[in-house]
Amino acid sequence: MWRGCRNALVVKENLRSRCVDVDNTCSLCGQERESQVHIFFRCEYARLFWFASSMQLDVPQIEGTDFRACWDNLLRKYGRVEHCNEILQCVVFGLWRLWKSRNSVVFYGCIWDPGDCVDDFHSQMQEYKAAQTSTKPLINKLPRPPEQQDRSNCTWTKPAQGWVKANCDGAWLKQMQRGGVGWVIRDDCCWMVLASSMGGLQGSMALVMEAEAIKEALLTFVETQLMHGKVESDSRLLMQMLKGEIN
Ligand SMILES: [Zn+2]
Repeated sequence: MWRGCRNALVVKENLRSRCVDVDNTCSLCGQERESQVHIFFRCEYARLFWFASSMQLDVPQIEGTDFRACWDNLLRKYGRVEHCNEILQCVVFGLWRLWKSRNSVVFYGCIWDPGDCVDDFHSQMQEYKAAQTSTKPLINKLPRPPEQQDRSNCTWTKPAQGWVKANCDGAWLKQMQRGGVGWVIRDDCCWMVLASSMGGLQGSMALVMEAEAIKEALLTFVETQLMHGKVESDSRLLMQMLKGEIN
C-alpha cells in the first residue's frame, strides 16, 4: 500500500517515466495504458474482479486520477461505516490479489480467470480471519482439494548425504489451457543449488503441468550433471503414477 500511495509500483507507465523502453499496454486487458490506477480500479479485469467479489464494489464510481486519490476516496466511503476496518482489510487483500494476477501475466504468461481470482481472494480472506481468531495455526485445517488432504503433516526433509532434491510444482489455467512450472533444487545441507520457472506452457490438465515440472527438474539434473538427484512433487497422484502404483 505504501508503494502504491507513493506511485512506486513497477507498472509499465512508471517504467516508461524512468526511461525504460517497454510497451505500456496493460498486461491484463491489453487495451489501456498500464498505470497503477488502471490496474487496480479502471481495468476491465479489475472491474469484473471487484464486482464479482463479496464486496460487489463498483470501482468505476471510485473517483481519482491516481492510486492515492482512489484510496482516499475509499477511506472516505468506508471510514465511518460499521466494520470499516474489516472492509478496508478486504480492499487491501483485493488490491494485493489484483497485483498478483498482473504479475502472473508479466512473469509467467498466465492470466487468471477473474472468477478464479475472486475465489482465491475469498479463501485468503478466510485464512486471514481464521488466523486472527485462533491461537493455533489454522492453515492446515482449512478445506483442501482431496488430493492434498494428507499433506497437512508433510514437512520438507533434506536429501541423503551427497544427494540433491528437486521440489517441483506446476500451475494450470483451465480457460487458457496453459500453465507454468517451477522447481527448486537443494542439497543435503539444505542450501539452494538451483531454482527456475517457466510459463506459457500448453497443457490440457493440471496434472500435465505437475509432470512438466518434474521433467524440467530431471532435465536440469542431466544438464548440470547432478547425478544423485531425486524429485518431489505435491501431486501425490502423479508420484503414484510415476512409481507405477496406479495407472
Ligand atoms: Zn487493463
